[in-house]
Amino acid sequence: MKQDIFGLTITDLEKAFLALGLKKFRAKQVFQWIYQKSVFDFNEMHNLSKKDIAILEENFCLLPRRITVLRQQNSADGMTSKLLLSLPDGNSIETVLMHHDYGYSVCVSSQVGCDMHCAFCASGLNGAIRNLTLPEIVAQVYLFNERLKPQGAFVSRIVVMGSGEPMLNYDNVFGALAFLHQESTSFMSYRNMTVSTCGIIPGIKRMTDDAKPINLAVSLHAVKMDLRSSLMPVNKGFAFTDVLEAAEEYALTTGREITYEYILLKDVNDSEEDALLLSNFLRYKHATVNLIPANPVPEKGFARPDEKTIDKFFKILVKNKTNATVRKEMGKDIAAACGQLRAKFAQEEKKK
Ligand code: SAH
Repeated sequence: MKQDIFGLTITDLEKAFLALGLKKFRAKQVFQWIYQKSVFDFNEMHNLSKKDIAILEENFCLLPRRITVLRQQNSADGMTSKLLLSLPDGNSIETVLMHHDYGYSVCVSSQVGCDMHCAFCASGLNGAIRNLTLPEIVAQVYLFNERLKPQGAFVSRIVVMGSGEPMLNYDNVFGALAFLHQESTSFMSYRNMTVSTCGIIPGIKRMTDDAKPINLAVSLHAVKMDLRSSLMPVNKGFAFTDVLEAAEEYALTTGREITYEYILLKDVNDSEEDALLLSNFLRYKHATVNLIPANPVPEKGFARPDEKTIDKFFKILVKNKTNATVRKEMGKDIAAACGQLRAKFAQEEKKK
């Protein structure tokens, strides 16, 4: 069986090369082809001899070539594209590329499915199947780098906001971010990376201990205890008041501003009272609220508030000295909410 060398450290790659009688410096060349030029076919690595290429072909493989694209959806405005990927073990995940005026960012998944069972989310419809590996997380970025290469572009930001709860896969998620941070790979600044959690406090504490300037986003979605517990079962284990405290500690340690995501669900958490309560919690904090008008998931029965309600909610926050933005709609027409495409695909397969 061939060894998959995608995501190996340079040291481990050198060891694997030496074991096959290849020169050590060849490992560095291959590493550059993969992570600086997004080339995943040994045949295209022009500075290698035919003999060495043959040895590589015989012994090694690369994950991006073992992942197949089941679906690609591009939004009508051309700014968002979503891939439904089939992993070597047959599980599928979603990855989204977003084109902003400041560059390209990729929203990666951290798990196959999710166990958090948030009431409005499509990712957890069937629970979590498994954690993604470090190479599987890195590959989501590189599949888009490969696609952007002809236009001389590359991914400069990553948000871990796809399916899954990153704090329950800490080593692989943060390992993947550290991998992408290396000068010899994507050389991506930690400041260009964001990890979003539903509020797993031990994960936030670990981030605080690691003290890297990675952006932390917290999915808040409600500031009434019972309401949040009914929308997000995780609140029963980690009450949002304690989550806010842990996040504040992170902001103090790293100097990074926290983003609180607040999905607006019609007649559920979009009242004036909700807005006032929210600003009571976050006023004067080193934080911004990102209001996300809900992407309705038909299976879940939630609706999006009308524009007037969204605007009113936003204005109450601003008036009460709480930084807020309304998420720019990206990819609504391509089922860009977490897990929606994967769920849709699974349903269609079932009908066949
Ligand atoms: N588990 C992590 C990261 C994945 S979810 C977390 O909870 O933060 C990423 C974000 O998308 C979360 O804020 C999540 O609540 C939100 N989201 C999930 N379903 C959505 C939907 N139908 N419409 C809008 N946002 C949604």
